[in-house]
Amino acid sequence: MGVTSIEKLLSTLDKVKLVKAGRWIACCPAHHDRTPSLSISEAQDGTVLIKCWAGCNASQIVKAAGLELRDLFPARASKPRMPSPSREAVNHERTVVAIGNAQLAKGENLNSKDQARFNLALARLERLAVKP
Ligand SMILES: [Zn+2]
Repeated sequence: MGVTSIEKLLSTLDKVKLVKAGRWIACCPAHHDRTPSLSISEAQDGTVLIKCWAGCNASQIVKAAGLELRDLFPARASKPRMPSPSREAVNHERTVVAIGNAQLAKGENLNSKDQARFNLALARLERLAVKP
């Protein structure tokens, strides 16, 4: 096991103090914080939850800590995930199919490149069992 998300974050913060099991406070790196106003806790799945009582958002805090938002989430190793396409990717395939269908409906032929892309989009949507 490598360094967990929470260890990585805590190592960048000042005045880290364990409040109780799984909950810390520290100085918020995103604003001038002299008394710790950042609350840090760890969800059951290993996701790091941060809350600055001065109102900094999570993205400002991780950036100020030199981390990225994805650093708040557990490494993928702990939860093997199928590489599932994003919603944007699926929507893109749908658009390709819609454009192809519109062209065909108008009696236009797809050129071989567009036809190949159209077929690929159809195949991808079929494999994902989503309706074009
Ligand atoms: Zn703050």
